[in-house]
Amino acid sequence: MERTLVMIKPDGVERNLIGKIIGIFEEKGLRVVALKKLKLSKEQAKVFYIVHKDRPFYESLTDYISSGPVVAMVLEGENSIKKVREIMGATNPQEAEEGTIRKLFGVNKEKNTVHGSDSPESAEKEIKFFFSEHELIGAEK
Ligand code: UDP
Ligand code: MG
Repeated sequence: MERTLVMIKPDGVERNLIGKIIGIFEEKGLRVVALKKLKLSKEQAKVFYIVHKDRPFYESLTDYISSGPVVAMVLEGENSIKKVREIMGATNPQEAEEGTIRKLFGVNKEKNTVHGSDSPESAEKEIKFFFSEHELIGAEK
């Protein structure tokens, strides 16, 4: 079993897509281990996306991510990191495969509705960013 961090970005929350998006992950066999809605400050958004600090889109991205509420969740399943990335689709919704969340709901390359961890290392870091150990309730508990 592997855990990964998913965040529904402000454009998804704003358009009332929380349930639809979680439903897509559940239908693919992933289980919710933790879930919360919150609004990140600009500073928190900058920490969350620190790996992109030298990229030209960093300022705009962190403004956007802190512009409204997000929903953070930990999903669990076999190969969940890769699976979630496949279910989300490519960063640019225009390049995403049919049926992926970003193809279905993404607005543009920045407002692409969902975030998913890209490696076991980022998953661990990102889960800790949003949740404490006692908030993670796996199927075995
Ligand atoms: N992003 C952007 N412009 C770009 C590339 C990325 O605004 O040219 C945003 C987009 O919201 C993306 C996030 O920055 O999801 C993180 O970028 P990354 O390359 O890690 O894409 P992801 O892993 O989310 O597919
Ligand atoms: Mg990424």
